[in-house]
Amino acid sequence: NTFADIDLGDALNLNIKRCKYVKPTPVQRYTIPISIAGRDLMACAQTGSGKTAAFCFPIISGILKSSEYAQRQRVPRMAFPLALILSPTRELSIQIHEEAKKFAYQTGVRVVVAYGGAPINLQLRDLERGVDILVATPGRLVDLLERARVSLQMIKYLALDEADRMLDMGFEPQIRKIVEQMDMPRPGVRQTMLFSATFPKEIQRLAADFLSDYVFLAV
Ligand code: AMP
Repeated sequence: NTFADIDLGDALNLNIKRCKYVKPTPVQRYTIPISIAGRDLMACAQTGSGKTAAFCFPIISGILKSSEYAQRQRVPRMAFPLALILSPTRELSIQIHEEAKKFAYQTGVRVVVAYGGAPINLQLRDLERGVDILVATPGRLVDLLERARVSLQMIKYLALDEADRMLDMGFEPQIRKIVEQMDMPRPGVRQTMLFSATFPKEIQRLAADFLSDYVFLAV
């Protein structure tokens, strides 16, 4: 019933204390152990339920524990994130980025955000400095992929936040294109967390296509 009961690692536990999170919210309590165990997940989560931490903690913890991360080399110009968080809007992306940076504080894990409706140059410069976790809106990410400034070849974790809203906004083609790019070189490697407030047919189809052997949680 505390974060220390979940095996998140010392560095992340320290940052959770710094954020003054004392105990997990219901969404966190049920989803984090499943994601830490490496299972795909589809979870019902409303705004304010603590879903940002629910997908950020397993990602940061997993990256810090992986041997790939320890041996990681930066390649100039082309960015190779290990985790991708897709979100529907600029505002939500900024908010996730701010939270994720607090969770990753002093761990060496780099979080970068890229969204549309803003100049791309600053985002390109951020990406060039190295990125472990990329928070992005689908349209801007497709743009970055087409410019060959981001590669999804190394992605191990994919989180889809507010998936129903992304579909409502017409992002399904972009999302499919993005997921296709990460699966082509290394099928079966990706671990996926799908968060949505509602579960219409379209979301269920997305889950069937993107998740494998997944746990469904409605808290
Ligand atoms: P979210 O649903 O991710 O947008 O989170 C809603 C708010 O709850 C944010 O301000 C978080 O910082 C906060 N929060 C998330 N998890 C916890 C927790 N376990 N304890 C206290 N506050 C939390």
